[in-house]
Amino acid sequence: MRVVVSGGSGFLGSHLCEALLRRGDSVRCLDNFSSGRSANIAHLLREPGFDCTACDVTVPFRSSGDVDAVVHLASPASPFDYGRLPLETLATGSRGTENLLRLAVRHSARFVLASTSEVYGDPQMHPQDEDYWGNVNPIGPRSVYDEAKRFAEALSMAYRRSQGADVGIVRIFNTYGPRMRAQDGRVVSSFIRQALEEEPLTVFGDGSQTRSFCYVDDMVRGLLAMIDSQLPGPFNLGNPTERTVRELAELVLSITGSDSELRFLPLPVDDPVRRRPVITRAGQGLGWHPRVPLEEGLRHTVDWFLSQPDTLVRPRER
Ligand code: NAD
Ligand code: UDP
Repeated sequence: MRVVVSGGSGFLGSHLCEALLRRGDSVRCLDNFSSGRSANIAHLLREPGFDCTACDVTVPFRSSGDVDAVVHLASPASPFDYGRLPLETLATGSRGTENLLRLAVRHSARFVLASTSEVYGDPQMHPQDEDYWGNVNPIGPRSVYDEAKRFAEALSMAYRRSQGADVGIVRIFNTYGPRMRAQDGRVVSSFIRQALEEEPLTVFGDGSQTRSFCYVDDMVRGLLAMIDSQLPGPFNLGNPTERTVRELAELVLSITGSDSELRFLPLPVDDPVRRRPVITRAGQGLGWHPRVPLEEGLRHTVDWFLSQPDTLVRPRER
């Protein structure tokens, strides 16, 4: 397959590009490097089937060659990134999504939208299945991301209904692993960096809020299954094992052997209280189920951070 991956130099995108190349597909990555890193794809540039175009997907893109699938991962994704790029986040979710849908329609290609558990907002239903419509504050600080993704879902379904586009939507829950940026503000990367630098771990609120963390290899298998499917979804993709943020902090401390303390800071506005996916539909439709337990995935991630001397400010001697 010839696959266009928007956001291909980001955390998830670079792992997906690598997996596609490994199975023999050719990949064109589109990225503006606003939160992606060239280091994530430097090793792929040597591969004959890989090509990266530096561009912004809010500008229409034409492909010279044929395209069999378009995977739309481009978007600021962490609260820190969409907080600093609010207008860009809305533009990427709206204009960017439409440009990539048009590209897919022109080539009769499969289109996969990377949506998010954030479409459920601060959920009033727990755990969350795909029939839940969500509880999103449309004007709060998270709305630039949540509403952009909700609009992107609506647009994708409208293209499916009105243009016959082969659209599939996945709703991704918190995913972690190697190549997260140490400074992206997300909880897993922050806690690991802080633990390795012997700094206090910044727990927002009392740490009783929950998330369900999925290892990146599992997520990539889910994305590949969605690319190969013709189903529209939406499918929740995530690991249904739910942990409090405080439990995560303690796990990171025990895996790293760090003596860091916990520092409790105010909870950000509209921070969702609980989040856990129901993944029955992805199991039935895609044959997908996550395999990597949190402890194992965190060890891989810690090892990766330790192997990146430039990532840490004060790398700790092991
Ligand atoms: P990331 O920030 O590492 O990757 C996003 C990539 O998109 C970056 O390389 C960035 O430079 C690029 N990008 C952003 N705007 C662009 C634009 N206008 N034009 C071209 N490129 C642009 O984030 P990630 O964690 O890899 O997330 C990838 C996708 O998965 C995002 O759409 C995100 O919303 C979704 N998602 C991720 C998670 C998660 O936990 N990682 C959870 C839910 C949804
Ligand atoms: N969080 C935290 N300390 C941090 C970063 C995040 O306690 O340094 C909390 C945050 O308030 C949220 C959870 O961890 O409750 C997950 O945050 P993240 O930004 O990783 O993802 P999201 O909120 O998008 O799920």
